[in-house]
Amino acid sequence: MDAIDIGFYRHQGHVTVNGVFAAAEMDAVVRDIEQWGEAFLAELPPAQRAWYLDGGVQARAVLRKLDNPHAHRPAVQQLARDLRLVGSIESLLGPGVSELGCDECFDQLDRYVELEVTGADAAAAMPALAAHLTGCPACREEHESLRALVGGEPAV
Ligand SMILES: [Zn+2]
Repeated sequence: MDAIDIGFYRHQGHVTVNGVFAAAEMDAVVRDIEQWGEAFLAELPPAQRAWYLDGGVQARAVLRKLDNPHAHRPAVQQLARDLRLVGSIESLLGPGVSELGCDECFDQLDRYVELEVTGADAAAAMPALAAHLTGCPACREEHESLRALVGGEPAV
């Protein structure tokens, strides 16, 4: 992560950094997700196949939707907590990103939204959760749908 990457992130809100992990490490995680997909497909009732399969890919059955692998697969969680990645993210967002995982975030999200709705400074009351929301698109999406459910615009 260099100054150009950081500038891009500040401008675009996202950044792709090549070469954080070795090709063999990424291949292992891709294989893990493929096995997950195959196990999922094997148990899928025929009536649901059309929804989950990508009709544009003819060569083999390809899933177009697997939910949040970081919440389901230890191999992905391990990459997400790897210091090479956490170090890069903390250089963008500040320290403390790795203190809270998605599971803890999910457990505490109700209380966070409750604070927001009552007009309290939720980010000041729960800084680790606020930091996690900034860095995690999946939990941010969860937060936004919860906010929409409860009423009011998301504050993030
Ligand atoms: Zn998360």
